Amino acid sequence: ETLANQIAAGEVIERPASVVKELVENAIDAKAHTIDVLVEAAGVQLIEVIDDGLGIPADQVKAAFLRHATSKIYDKGDLFKIMTLGFRGEALPSIASVADVTLETAVPDANQGAYVQIKGNEWLTKRSGSARQGTDVTVRDLFYNTPARLKYLKSQSTEMAKIVDIINRLAFSYPQIAFHLQHNGKKVLSTPGNGNLQQVISSVYGVNNAREMLAVEAHDADFKVQGWIAKPQVTRSNRSYMTLLINGRYVKNYALTNALLKGYGTRLMVGRFPISVLQIEMDPRLVDVNVHPQKFEVRISKEGQLAALLEQMVQAAFQTVNL
Ligand code: ADP
Ligand code: MG
Repeated sequence: ETLANQIAAGEVIERPASVVKELVENAIDAKAHTIDVLVEAAGVQLIEVIDDGLGIPADQVKAAFLRHATSKIYDKGDLFKIMTLGFRGEALPSIASVADVTLETAVPDANQGAYVQIKGNEWLTKRSGSARQGTDVTVRDLFYNTPARLKYLKSQSTEMAKIVDIINRLAFSYPQIAFHLQHNGKKVLSTPGNGNLQQVISSVYGVNNAREMLAVEAHDADFKVQGWIAKPQVTRSNRSYMTLLINGRYVKNYALTNALLKGYGTRLMVGRFPISVLQIEMDPRLVDVNVHPQKFEVRISKEGQLAALLEQMVQAAFQTVNL
């Protein structure tokens, strides 16, 4: 069982950022309003995710760490119809197979919570003194028993950048959730959780929306687009500052970001990329479902049509605005 979990961990848990992603997605699935992420040593020493979601009933806490014991249901037919982020029941057992884990949890209005600690094959479960609604998971000494994986990690700043990236894009997808991220006791990110995407963008990138960003929108028979794009002087050195959300999910699509760049035309210096966050709504059937859930690249039918819409949207934005 431990071995099977470690093999699964090899696929699901590649680095500290994967742990953060799985734990934060669980908090989102549990309908948290506030999610605190505390990280030490880029996640190798400690990753702690605290949420105020629905918690886990005490008698189900152990099961949450058994493989494929997901409490979530899903429609296999269409990845984009899945309403929860997790559905495989692999994350918690995988993480517990490569790190020391504790989980403390309480459901709403509980008199008591539950606590479980897993260290190797040793389990300790008890009632918890705290009945605070929500779940608090700590993950310590990641990859202590898989030295090859530990060795494969990059520098702390690179691993931390990947963690920040995960939180940023979840913050864009869920502007109604307040995200707080700390590294070694220092605040890295804090979003207001009031549903305002514009404020999430300024929290994440430190931009002044009124001065540096433009609101854009466009639609045709198949697509509805809205969001924020930077003025041409507000650029960064790579594409990762360009976020596309399709039906609320972060995706990567080179053709579409290229279409945005084309819309800027010569206003943009070569090798520079504008901060942008665009929400695109479309019929889920237009998104290719045969994509691996760990990857973000998607194919879209009518991609050319959407690309043209994005390019025109950007062009039009600069025609009407005095830069
Ligand atoms: P999955 O998310 O695919 O269901 P996980 O291994 O990530 O699988 O989690 C297993 C189960 O543990 C979930 O189905 C859920 O019932 C429970 N769970 C995990 N994290 C939380 C959380 N933060 N709040 C409430 N329930 C949780
Ligand atoms: Mg999960």
